[in-house]
Amino acid sequence: MTDRTSHNPNRRGLLSVASVGLGAGMAAFGGAQAATLPAPQAQHRADVIVIGGGMAGCSAALEATERGASVIVLDKAGRLGGNSILAAGIFALPLGDSAAARQDFAREYERIGQGRGNAEIFALMAEHVRENIAWLERNGVAFGPEGVSAPFRVAVRNVGPGAWRGMPVLFQAMRERIEARGGRFDFGVKARELVMDNRGHVVGVRAAGPDGLVDYLGRTVVIAAGGYAANTAMLEAFADPNAGALMVRGYRGATGDGHRMAEAAGAGLRGMGGMMALHIAAVDPDSTAAGQPAFAIPHAISINRAGERFVDESRGYVAHGKAVLTQPQGLTTLVFDQRIAEIEAVAGVVGNFRRLGLDVHQADTIEALAAKVGLPPEATAHTVNAFNAAVQDGAAPGASPPKRTLARKVEQAPFFALHPLVPGITLTFGGVMTDTSARVLEADGRVIPGLFAAGEGAGGAFFEDYIGGGALTMCLVMGRIAGRSAVA
Ligand SMILES: Cc1cc2nc3c(=O)[nH]c(=O)nc-3n(C[C@H](O)[C@H](O)[C@H](O)COP(=O)(O)OP(=O)(O)OC[C@H]3O[C@@H](n4cnc5c(N)ncnc54)[C@H](O)[C@@H]3O)c2cc1C
Repeated sequence: MTDRTSHNPNRRGLLSVASVGLGAGMAAFGGAQAATLPAPQAQHRADVIVIGGGMAGCSAALEATERGASVIVLDKAGRLGGNSILAAGIFALPLGDSAAARQDFAREYERIGQGRGNAEIFALMAEHVRENIAWLERNGVAFGPEGVSAPFRVAVRNVGPGAWRGMPVLFQAMRERIEARGGRFDFGVKARELVMDNRGHVVGVRAAGPDGLVDYLGRTVVIAAGGYAANTAMLEAFADPNAGALMVRGYRGATGDGHRMAEAAGAGLRGMGGMMALHIAAVDPDSTAAGQPAFAIPHAISINRAGERFVDESRGYVAHGKAVLTQPQGLTTLVFDQRIAEIEAVAGVVGNFRRLGLDVHQADTIEALAAKVGLPPEATAHTVNAFNAAVQDGAAPGASPPKRTLARKVEQAPFFALHPLVPGITLTFGGVMTDTSARVLEADGRVIPGLFAAGEGAGGAFFEDYIGGGALTMCLVMGRIAGRSAVA
């Protein structure tokens, strides 16, 4: 179905400017704005051009091919999946299939984002994620059973065969389905700028591939190029002058290319400013992607180099990660006892750390555990005792700092420590402005015709804090919407 490489500019008559001869270079676009690079010799054509083969791009491509469109997915990497393929594979969904559960889900994301996330996107996620997971299942992707992301009113499902192992399997299945419907992937091809016709419609992408510059021309373009966690200059400009020094947990190609291309075509950006635009998690430095104890943190206590607690761990792993940034030496130790280790979510983390060959320190007393991980034994024991004394009915309001929920005494040997945990950027929150149809908007709300965006770099969904599984759900839901809109 995909119309393969074409050197005949008028072949499909997709462009209103075709009559003036595309082969003649940029002037041929009759005032095309975005493309400033020299005219390439080769062109490829399809109905929809997707930039980026991560969760959002593949969702858009699969949806568009299902609707009968020809699709080319460009990816500058030599492989599929961007950050998505490195993910744990957790998708967030409402706690049930009811209107109340959907409302709870959206409200949890709004609440944790201090009311400054994108409520429209949260509502779309709540509305569509269950059906979209079923859609992936129909397309050969297996999911595990539902769990709860305590203490939030949010459920989670992992891509099969389980955490940290499922995403490559998901991408294999999605790729097969997209290709079976005539879609195509061009790897090692970097989109450099968007091509507009003289009506101001986005009609393609000028890209650099192994054979030099190539134009990918379509009826519409979907930007799904991910975030900017690996772009030092963007982090320093938008988040914080020191943010460029932060460890990056994931994919080095997350350089905000989509943000910049869209901006050059007139798009507005939202939610990019300050540290509230970053997702920070404290992880094991020997495995910055998978050495991530998110589901254990709310149940355990986190102790800094001075032997003190410093955050309400039950606020979740992003609030925890951001709090670690300001601690001595910028690291922390997660401490729990045998009973806490038996909680399913914590046992899963411990099992994963062991599978990865990461340290799970263990001792029969808190003092001995502290000595093993270089914490001051007396101060650490004092902190644990004071915390235990403050635990009442699952909370520790009198502890310093208080723990609102999921508080359990740390008193049953053996004691465990995950150490060291250091903060790193997982994903970036801000993105290209879009509407509920994933159409890209200018800062004043005008639609840029022909241009759609989805995924980590679009919509500005999250702000400041985050509940695990939200990003993949957002990429799936908004990617699919972008694919549908791009065909419509
Ligand atoms: C270690 C880790 C674990 C995570 N685990 C989870 C999880 O379990 N659940 C969850 O919800 N979220 C998780 N996240 C976050 C989530 O994975 C990402 O937010 C999400 O995968 C982003 O998907 P995307 O499709 O927007 O971008 P990506 O998956 O990053 O895909 C973007 C693609 O665009 C390509 N690209 C970029 N620029 C260009 C260009 N100029 N030309 C051509 N191609 C280009 C890239 O090569 C890349 O393949 C995790 C993140 C990390 C780092």
